[in-house]
Amino acid sequence: MLDADFFRRWMTATAVSVDREAQRLTDLDSAIGDADHGSNLQRGFTAVRQELEQERPGTPGEVLALAGKQLISKVGGASGPLYGTLLRRTGKALGDAPEVTEAQLAEALRSGVDGVMKLGGAAPGDKTMIDALVPALDALADGFAAASAAAEQGARDTVPLQARKGRASYLGERSIGHQDPGATSSALLIAALAEAAE
Ligand code: ADP
Ligand code: MG
Ligand code: MG
Repeated sequence: MLDADFFRRWMTATAVSVDREAQRLTDLDSAIGDADHGSNLQRGFTAVRQELEQERPGTPGEVLALAGKQLISKVGGASGPLYGTLLRRTGKALGDAPEVTEAQLAEALRSGVDGVMKLGGAAPGDKTMIDALVPALDALADGFAAASAAAEQGARDTVPLQARKGRASYLGERSIGHQDPGATSSALLIAALAEAAE
């Protein structure tokens, strides 16, 4: 069973890897965006970590609700509201249970990802975070490590795609040949899930 501590570890591990990879995320965003994805997520997940330490939420749903709220209020870019929605919707779907199963988390994440697609209007193949998240969901039945590998592959598979959503879409065909920054950070989020489970 996955308790509030597990979800705190997930968010903390995400914050650590976003810190570690911030420059790479910003470099990817400088190729097809405005060079702020690393700093956007660093600011957001630093706030998430601080808030979780101060508030000590007691259920999985509360951990994710609080994290999502921080991302929405602290990240100015497109990714803040999108990641915020992902975590809030996932948290809402988990309800107020003190512990959840992996299958419940998988189902809740699916509703979170649906929320991101509704808010941003992106579908698979549009070269966004969705291209890492959807393969992760599909692999989650085989465990967190399989989901993490699928998310990384999904992020790499954005390289030949032309962006149809977000800033990168303004580049048209010139967005081809670069890995999407948001798909890359989504792979970090899913890798952190696998780390929290170790
Ligand atoms: P901004 O583009 O506002 O500077 P960020 O650089 O933080 O925001 O995030 C850019 C990432 O957000 C993109 O690489 C992409 O993965 C994701 N993104 C942008 N627009 C959308 C959308 N409509 N739906 C899903 N993801 C999106
Ligand atoms: Mg940007
Ligand atoms: Mg920006």
